[in-house]
Order: sequence, then C-alpha cells, then structure tokens
Amino acid sequence: SLSDRLSGVFAGLRGRGALSENDVRGAMREVRIALLEADVALPVVREFIDKATEKAVGQDVLRSVTPGQQVVKIVHDALVEMLGSDASDLELNVTPPAVVMMVGLQGSGKTTTTAKIAKRLSAREGKKVLMASLDVNRPAAQEQLAVLGEQAGVATLPIVQGQQPVDIARRALQSAKLQGFDVVMLDTAGRLHVDQALMDEMRAVSAASNPAETLLVVDSLTGQDAVNVAKNFSDQVPLTGVVLTRMDGDARGGAALSMRAVTGKPIKFVGTGEKLDGLEAFHPERVAGRILGMGDVVSLVERAAEAVNQEDAEAMAAKFAKGQFDLNDLRNQLKQMQNMGGLGALAGMIPGMKQAQAAMASGAVEDRLLVRMDAMIGSMTPKERSKPELLQAKRKIRIAKGSGVTVQDVNKLLKMHQDMSGAMKKLRKMGGIKAMMAMMG
Ligand code: GDP
Ligand code: MG
Repeated sequence: SLSDRLSGVFAGLRGRGALSENDVRGAMREVRIALLEADVALPVVREFIDKATEKAVGQDVLRSVTPGQQVVKIVHDALVEMLGSDASDLELNVTPPAVVMMVGLQGSGKTTTTAKIAKRLSAREGKKVLMASLDVNRPAAQEQLAVLGEQAGVATLPIVQGQQPVDIARRALQSAKLQGFDVVMLDTAGRLHVDQALMDEMRAVSAASNPAETLLVVDSLTGQDAVNVAKNFSDQVPLTGVVLTRMDGDARGGAALSMRAVTGKPIKFVGTGEKLDGLEAFHPERVAGRILGMGDVVSLVERAAEAVNQEDAEAMAAKFAKGQFDLNDLRNQLKQMQNMGGLGALAGMIPGMKQAQAAMASGAVEDRLLVRMDAMIGSMTPKERSKPELLQAKRKIRIAKGSGVTVQDVNKLLKMHQDMSGAMKKLRKMGGIKAMMAMMG
C-alpha cells in the first residue's frame, strides 16, 4: 500500500526536524504513482503534487508520528480540500419550473442519472418532476427514459416523432408551466467523443431553456480523457456541477479530482449502481481515501492529528514549567483557540487553571474579541510583549489607539495574562510539568 511504500521512503528520518524538500520529493514520487493508478489525469496530478509539496516542505516532523504518516496526512488534507466541500445540493430556487440539464458523453450514465435524480426529488422532497429526453440520435433513447419514468413513478414528456432537441425542450417547459411542474429534467444526447455538432446542440438547448443546473455526467472510469471532456463541456455550456457514475465498480475515483480541477464545479452526486436508488451525495473524505488507496487512512490521519495536539500541549507545558509565558505565547494561544483545543482545552485538565480557563471561555472564544486581542498585542513592541510589566498608562493609551480599542480593553487583556501566569505558578508548586503530563495520560 501507499503507506507501506512511504515508510520505506522515510526509513532514515525519524523524530524531530523539518521535512526537507528532498524527503518530501521522495514521498511525492510514491503519491504520484498512487494518483496515476487511481486514474487522475496527468496535468492534474502535476498541479496537485506541486501544491502538496509546497505545503509539506518545512513542516516539523512530530515525535509521535512517522514522517510517512505525516506526509499522508498532508496529502489527504490537500486532496479533501481540492475535492471541495461536503454534499452540495442542487440549487433549484428559481421561478418554477426549474430546469436541470444533463450533459455528457454517450454511455456516461445521463439517462439513468436523470431518472435517479428525478426520483429523489419527487420521493424525498415531494417535488413534481417532468423528464424529457432530447436524444433523437439513438433509436429507442426516448423510450428508455419513458420506461425509467414508470419505474421511478415520475412523469415523462409524451414522445413526438421527428422533433428536434430545442423544440422538445421548449415543449417540455411549456407543458411544465401549464401543468404546474416544479422541475424539468432535460436528458440530452451524447456522442462517443466530443464533437462540435453535439456542442452546438447543447448550447442551443441551454439558451432555450435557461437551466438552473447544468450537470456534467462522467463515468468514474474516465482516465486521461477526463481533462478533455471536462474542458470541452465547460467551455461550451455553463456547468454548475458534476455527477460521477459507476462508483460502485472498481474505479478509485481519480476522475473526481480531474473534474473538479478542470471545471472548478462541485461534484453533486455519485452514481453507485444501475438501479434507480443508486445515487449518493458526494463525500470528499471518502473519495480522497479511495484515491490514495489507503484502506484505513481516516483512522491513521486521526492518530496523527491526536499526536499533533499532544506535541503542542507538551511544548506549552514546557514553557509553563519554566515560567516563560509572555504575551507572545498568549497571542499564539489565542490563535490556536480559534482552531479549537489550545490552552482552553489544556486548562480544563489542570486544577488551579479553572480560573484562567473561565476567563478565556467567558468571551475570549468569541472571534471578534480574539481578533481585537490579536490587534492589541500586535500594537505592542517586542519588548513590551516579553515584559508586560513595562505596560504603564502612557504605553496603554498608545496601544489602545494603535489597535482601535479602549484602555479598559487593554487592561482586560493584561488581567487575563496575569491570571494565566498566576495559575502557572500554582501549577509549578504542585509538581509542575510531570504531574500535569501524568494527569493528561
Ligand atoms: P447515457 O448514454 O449517458 O444516457 O447512459 P445510460 O444512462 O444509458 O447508462 C449507460 C449504462 O450505464 C447503463 O447500462 C446503465 O445502467 C449504466 N449505469 C449508469 N449509471 C451507473 C452507475 O452508477 N453504476 C453502474 N454500475 N452502472 C451505471
Ligand atoms: Mg441516454
């Protein structure tokens, strides 16, 4: 597996130190192979590797995780970020009927997905849905949709032989308006390859029906061709999202990354079977795990993240023990609090720290206040930050002016720092860092 191969790459590097460019490049060679094996298109692999490398180089190697695990975490997080946000829904908030236009190559799963989405909208959301097939090229294509409509319990537009796609789209809209449908799903024709006649047809249908959603349907087994398909379609019609079909098969899902990178549009659904209920929301975490080909990546990453927190706690405890907690440290703590954990979490574990914790919890967690505190500390000189006792009236006024707050606010900040320092001194008397680490388990 990828993590085994990465352990090999990093056999020599353990313990503290920063990930060097060489270490990371070695690991990224393995990641590159994993991505190509998962069918991510080459230009997308390159772009991704560059970004992930930039993120990884220079990061500290934590004592409690191996460098290989750490790179895996960085790569995983970068994948999730690039794949986009969780389960983004269809946006059909327009004057009804809302048009959903399905586009894609022949055999990608457009007709099946049209029926799946229609069924979902009508069964789950109680929407009145009308489906229309604009595929006049393939014999029986329109009948295929009618059959699926019966299975799904969704209406289909009656077939009129000899009509062209744009006219069928207009007729569908008209019927929907007259009969009070909420949604019109337009299932368009595909081709085996992208060609201009197909694109002209897509554009004309799009112009005539003004879709609320235009979804590009893509087979998850699409490999290097994914970039071409995505580029061509998104150049010609204003896509709003992507559906990835056949994720029930062996595909590792690399096409998801390619599609996302090229179109910039969210993946809205994943097709997971031939049956009409084989449609799921898109979960970037799951697909990222599948692309990397790591069975248990999620728990691996969680272990690494826990270790990261522990490292932070240890570094802070060491400062406590030395009684070196100045305003620079407070500032770092405030930053960490915005990302959860930090001193707030640590303080909860230590008797005598309750007071300081309460001080912080009472309002410091509020983002606005954190920003103000950060501004106040930012207005101090480095000397003032490391020696808060220098801060007498004149300096306080200057800092208040510089950061747009009142002198009272500056006093509150200094009081908080004092409370925390006081709690730290108590802690030292109680046995200091060792006692604390024991309590933390
Ligand atoms: P179209 O040409 O784009 O309209 O594609 P179709 O909807 O006709 O689908 C082509 C084939 O793919 C059919 O046999 C479908 O049953 C199958 N298919 C579509 N989506 C999925 C999916 O998510 N999983 C699986 N296993 N098969 C699918
Ligand atoms: Mg079709």
